[in-house]
Amino acid sequence: MPDKDDYVEINIVVLPGDGIGPEVIRAAVAVLDAVGERFGHNFQTQEYLIGGCAIDNYGTALPENTLAACRAADAVLLGAVGGPKWDDPNAKVRPEDGLLGLRKELGLFANLRPVRATSVSMQISPIRPQRLQGVDLMVVRELTGGIYFGQPRGRKIIGDEVQAVDSMVYTKSEVRRIANLAFDLAGQRRNKVTSVDKANVLESSRLWREVVNEVAAHYPHVTLEHNLVDAAAMYLISRPQTFDVILAANLFGDILTDEASVLAGSMGLLPSASLGESRNTQGYPLGLYEPIHGSAPDIAGKNIANPVGAILSAALLLRHSLGFEAEAEIVEDAVEKTLSTGNVTIDLAAPGQRTLTTGEVTQFVVKSISDDEE
Ligand code: NAD
Repeated sequence: MPDKDDYVEINIVVLPGDGIGPEVIRAAVAVLDAVGERFGHNFQTQEYLIGGCAIDNYGTALPENTLAACRAADAVLLGAVGGPKWDDPNAKVRPEDGLLGLRKELGLFANLRPVRATSVSMQISPIRPQRLQGVDLMVVRELTGGIYFGQPRGRKIIGDEVQAVDSMVYTKSEVRRIANLAFDLAGQRRNKVTSVDKANVLESSRLWREVVNEVAAHYPHVTLEHNLVDAAAMYLISRPQTFDVILAANLFGDILTDEASVLAGSMGLLPSASLGESRNTQGYPLGLYEPIHGSAPDIAGKNIANPVGAILSAALLLRHSLGFEAEAEIVEDAVEKTLSTGNVTIDLAAPGQRTLTTGEVTQFVVKSISDDEE
């Protein structure tokens, strides 16, 4: 095999963040190193600050040098931000500002959350195992529009009443770009999109449905169904196997992704990817990859955090920002092999089961990736 320096340099910016962020990101980087070693990829990782630790050092949650590095990167891998130290509700800057600012600055309009039921899910999810069999879905959530950003918003006094307003606003082009992305993804999966809205009540949802229908006409091989969000919430639990790609506006996607995480069994297991329109030097979307969990201050520094969400985020990075599908699958298989043989952190353990540290689970995954080579 040629020396790995003969290969094109792939520039990955790593933002460990706060709490367990550095612990789980260390695991994800070890896995990327193992993949680089095995396939001869030249991954160059550089660490920058974001969130609470950036506030401590720079007085801002998203320092200039962090943002500049992310803009120039091929992909960004993030741990988590936040913690009690920065929780003062009157604080001028908050750790979350770093994350929201980064999504906005990089134009990351699509959040992808794949959810698969594994052998471990069958044991720990509150949903019955027969309902979980074969669950493999992807929620595609619109991330930069809708009710979280729409104007007008705010409060006003009307007579002796206080009124608060939020606005669910979507333009055709905002719906079209996220719908295109969802249909493209479905084409690489099982060719089905379920678009979620509340078109029986909301005007913005009627536009959403109209545009999704227009986009669907360009993807004749993909089946489209529309679910009202209330029904979708029910079907996610009663027949989750029937979903492939779920396409949802910001608010609905936010709620449904947390609901869907129950299918996998633990927050610590789930990865996410946020993608936009800008392309990296490899010609793929510049993405932000992060586990869905937070900084878990209650377990930080104890080497017991589950690294799987972060490791699977690295797998998504390989797939979506680098086009390394085989490498992504090897990481996912290594994780499944590790978990199904009982090598789990405490959050996944059955009563009395032996538990491993973050580092030990990571070593199992790394070894499985490296051993596969032989
Ligand atoms: P959390 O996800 O950090 O923790 C919720 C529970 O899940 C805790 O009991 C924690 O110990 C456990 N948990 C989370 N990840 C785990 C893992 N990998 N392995 C094992 N157990 C894990 O949510 P929270 O407690 O609501 O928030 C804590 C802090 O994280 C807050 O400051 C919050 O603002 C921040 N937060 C950040 C993000 C992010 O960076 N994307 C997301 C959510 C919350």
